[in-house]
Amino acid sequence: MHYHIGRMLIDENFKKSDLCPMCLIKLKVESRLAEQYLGEGVMEDDTRKEVNKLGFCLRHFDMLYKMQSKLGLALQTFTRLATIKKVLDEPKSPSAAKKQAQKIRELGKSCVVCKYLDEHMIRYYKTVAEIFGGEPTFKERIDQTNGFCLEHYSGLIEYSSYAGKSADEYLKLLYRKEKERLDKLGDKLTEFCSRFDYRNASKPIGDEKTALPESRAAIYGLDE
Ligand SMILES: [Zn+2]
Ligand SMILES: [Zn+2]
Repeated sequence: MHYHIGRMLIDENFKKSDLCPMCLIKLKVESRLAEQYLGEGVMEDDTRKEVNKLGFCLRHFDMLYKMQSKLGLALQTFTRLATIKKVLDEPKSPSAAKKQAQKIRELGKSCVVCKYLDEHMIRYYKTVAEIFGGEPTFKERIDQTNGFCLEHYSGLIEYSSYAGKSADEYLKLLYRKEKERLDKLGDKLTEFCSRFDYRNASKPIGDEKTALPESRAAIYGLDE
């Protein structure tokens, strides 16, 4: 199951918007990936093997559950359960139980959708940097955005070397956008807090009402 990354999602989402463009890309890639696990992929041997081994995290189980094919998810879950049951031995002593507990906890940490999603996002970080390095006009596209969430800002700077000779300039721009975003948020939060002062009770509420949801998006990213 391979999903090829193209320019389209980058061109569509690097635009004037309050939302992190990489979050918007991630959400689209995520739902395409998730759908594959309920479509024709369900019966493929390789896919089944991987799902058995890695399973789904809670977020992705819930996402799949909201989709059409309950049968697809039930089949995937049935085989995953068989793997889980293999790990679940009867603990014969407290020290064996300790090891067992560790193994069981690890079962909940892996997710096949997360694994591919992370791989795709790394390719997007590299591609965005390459486009910046190759196309002088792309600068404006980044400048139009409102910066990034922390996860995606760190991903973009981590792969900045892919911008080649323009890497320093790229980093400068990314940092400026991020700093602007956080500074604006700080101002909004201050304004929001001042609303709780009785002396401002009669003042009409303005943009600051979104200070907390916007902080959530900047710190944790978008989840839907
Ligand atoms: Zn983001
Ligand atoms: Zn996941």
